[in-house]
Amino acid sequence: MRWALPAIVPGARLPYRAGMSRIDSHLEAALARVERAGQRRVLRPTALLAGGRVQRGARTMLDFSSNDYLGLARHPLLADRAAHWAARDGSGSGASRLVTGTSEGHLALERRIAAFKHCEAALLFASGWQANAAVIPALLAALPGAAVFTDRLIHASMHAGVAMAGIRQHRFRHNDLDHLEALLAEKGAGASSRLILTESVFSMDGDRADVARLAAIAERHDAALFIDEAHATGVLGPQGRGLSALVPGRVDIVMGTFSKALGGFGAYVAGSQVLIDYLVNAASGFIFTTAPPPAVLGAIDAALDLMPAMDAQRAHLAGLADRLRAGLSRLGYDHGASSTQIVPVMIGPEEKAMALSTRLEEAGFLAAAIRPPTVPPGTSRLRLALRAGHSVEDVDALLAAIEAHS
Ligand code: PMP
Repeated sequence: MRWALPAIVPGARLPYRAGMSRIDSHLEAALARVERAGQRRVLRPTALLAGGRVQRGARTMLDFSSNDYLGLARHPLLADRAAHWAARDGSGSGASRLVTGTSEGHLALERRIAAFKHCEAALLFASGWQANAAVIPALLAALPGAAVFTDRLIHASMHAGVAMAGIRQHRFRHNDLDHLEALLAEKGAGASSRLILTESVFSMDGDRADVARLAAIAERHDAALFIDEAHATGVLGPQGRGLSALVPGRVDIVMGTFSKALGGFGAYVAGSQVLIDYLVNAASGFIFTTAPPPAVLGAIDAALDLMPAMDAQRAHLAGLADRLRAGLSRLGYDHGASSTQIVPVMIGPEEKAMALSTRLEEAGFLAAAIRPPTVPPGTSRLRLALRAGHSVEDVDALLAAIEAHS
């Protein structure tokens, strides 16, 4: 017998509908406030295509908004291995890791990730958001009286982690390591321990942290260093091992994702064996969630196979980014301190950024506008992200479109 879901007839009275719940009126009021602030967002179905394209509705567009930097999200090896592992081991993992959810596959993959990151051990997480939100409060639970130092532009998930720990953070100006040192001296000296949280590549600016200097500062001030490598993993560092690989053994906690350059889903945290053993026992977002399923593991395994041989794609991406930045400069656009595959086009006012993004979309280019609260007020921008499937001609076409629609 086939399963049949009851048909949903447009306009029919559904068993549950807006206005029925006791909280809907509150939610409507909250949404109205978001709307009035011009910040209401909607979901738009989009299909990621090979060759640096996406499809929305009937329209195929050049895509400068996804994080599929190396084109692996459509790579047949990943899709095949995901299918193979699912066919072999099932669609679900059955339970959380500490119950019955740990397979040989999880442990083997964690050993592979540790080797990839030149660390003693690694741990898989369901997503990057979850990793940051789980690991940071777990660490701080073991460090009573710790002082936490964060770059002003760290990702929302790291803020969530610090907030969960109930600790006030000392925020240093973005990538201003003199400011970090001054704060460490002022606020860190009297604390029982110190933790620095930052990213190696900043997601909305495409600039890099000076990881070697950060490591030296951390050592000088006896601070632990946590680096989010979500946008560096797969793209930067030797064989795509991230920028922490440039300072082996000097970053205490390295986090990264499989959802961007590695074309899959999920995240890792890598460091010492003690760190990982502790997290297995203390990180609630690891303990109380279902283990990543076989298909997700298969895709990660295949992406790790491909990593060492992708230097050509990494060099191609870097070349495209240089060309894009040079072209934007010629057009008089500020691209901040970008030095990676992420290139912001600084616009300023939210409405201007939204309008340019809309005109580009009509012309066949997906270049998402990023606005507050994702970026600070007055710094709305197009966040352009390059994909290895782009050609030089694609970048030139985008530049011509930006010029024509500015
Ligand atoms: N950290 C950074 C810097 C990110 O940009 C993101 C994703 N946008 C995350 C963490 C969260 O990763 P995920 O998408 O796997 O939840």
